Amino acid sequence: MLITCKFGGTSLACSENVRRCAQIVKADEGRRYVVVSAPGKKDKQSKKVTDLLYECHANRFDEGVFNALFGQIRAIFQEIGSLVKNFPIDEELDVIYNQIKFSESNIDFVISRGEYLNAKLFAAYLGYTFLDATKFIRFKNGELDLPATLEKAKEIDKDGRYVIPGFYGLNKNGYVKTFSRGGSDITGSIVARMFDCDLYENWTDVDGIYVSDPKVIKNAKKVAQVSFRELREMSYMGASVLHAETLMPIYEKRIPIVLKNSFAPELSGTEILKKRTEVADGEVITCITGKNDYTCIQISKMLLDKQLGFVKKATAVFEEYHINISHTHSGLDNLCFFVENSEYKEISFEAFLKELESRIDADKIVGHDKIALLAVIGHNLSGKIGVLAKIFNALQENAINVKTIYQSISECNIIIGIENDQLKPCIKAIYDKLIG
Ligand code: ASP
Repeated sequence: MLITCKFGGTSLACSENVRRCAQIVKADEGRRYVVVSAPGKKDKQSKKVTDLLYECHANRFDEGVFNALFGQIRAIFQEIGSLVKNFPIDEELDVIYNQIKFSESNIDFVISRGEYLNAKLFAAYLGYTFLDATKFIRFKNGELDLPATLEKAKEIDKDGRYVIPGFYGLNKNGYVKTFSRGGSDITGSIVARMFDCDLYENWTDVDGIYVSDPKVIKNAKKVAQVSFRELREMSYMGASVLHAETLMPIYEKRIPIVLKNSFAPELSGTEILKKRTEVADGEVITCITGKNDYTCIQISKMLLDKQLGFVKKATAVFEEYHINISHTHSGLDNLCFFVENSEYKEISFEAFLKELESRIDADKIVGHDKIALLAVIGHNLSGKIGVLAKIFNALQENAINVKTIYQSISECNIIIGIENDQLKPCIKAIYDKLIG
């Protein structure tokens, strides 16, 4: 069985952790392709290398601060480097120091150096070949160019055993370009696809996927299996499981993912499959999660059902201001658009409402802010009798006022709009009712 394994930052934060991950790789002959993040936090006080690199870049004109920050990066890598005899760790660090201090380096190049050096080190430690992601990962207009990436990947000898840095590739101009934060998950997925792997193992510091964030629900239940669709909904709605774009490269090939804990490799973890194979009754709900800080724009227009092109006119205004709509609900004579607050970059929420009023012939436009969206995600929710009843009971018993509720067409998602500050109590109330 051919396996791509990706190790997250905490799993590789210090030499002891790196040794543990190496044992995992060596325990299965099939683990030929390894993707790494930059070293993460070893303990609560320490910083992630990627964060330190960001700070280095911000302080590159202040020699004292820059050197102190780079000193922290140096210490982390020297400690890990102590594992590998004859690895020129100081020379490697000196090259990076000069590249990010004295050259005109773009920020993406700077923040990619954590993955780059970690992959080189881990490759040397394992006796694998270092394969730079710039050799095959391609971006176009700021996004992954999967066809170009897979085409480039054909040049790579499949018989090798590789360690590959996560998080970055090259853009059209030949400069290093990174994914958004946590993007090594996507690299792992690309690698699993290009080498036709049977499995993508994603090694982290948690035992798997929990129904709710254990910071909100103590002892939250772990789920054994999650479908691709459910994972997409979870990541999109704020559950920090895998990067939201992880599935894209492997979706078509249906390569399964297993999420495992590198600190407890004997545990089974959570499988992420195109379709769940077992759905016991107690395992219908896979996730209760949510996100704060949405606005809702409610547009009313009498005889909306007879107005050809009205929705198009409204959404064109959003498009013009580059405001991405997260969700829409519609009713007779009413339309609701939910937008994340962070989308109002070019124009404020208030100014946008005014603009919309002047551009479309609505009877009334009302804006609501400080909205949280909570999602209950699970298998075939629309086919299950009683889920909604339980949710409503939980909300009523806890005096939570619902602004909107919506069961998505994908049949695996119920979305509830509430006030921002009710999100955590609401998750708790619904969890207690549905999971117990
Ligand atoms: N090191 C990057 C981050 O901290 C990318 C990753 O770990 O996936 O976001």
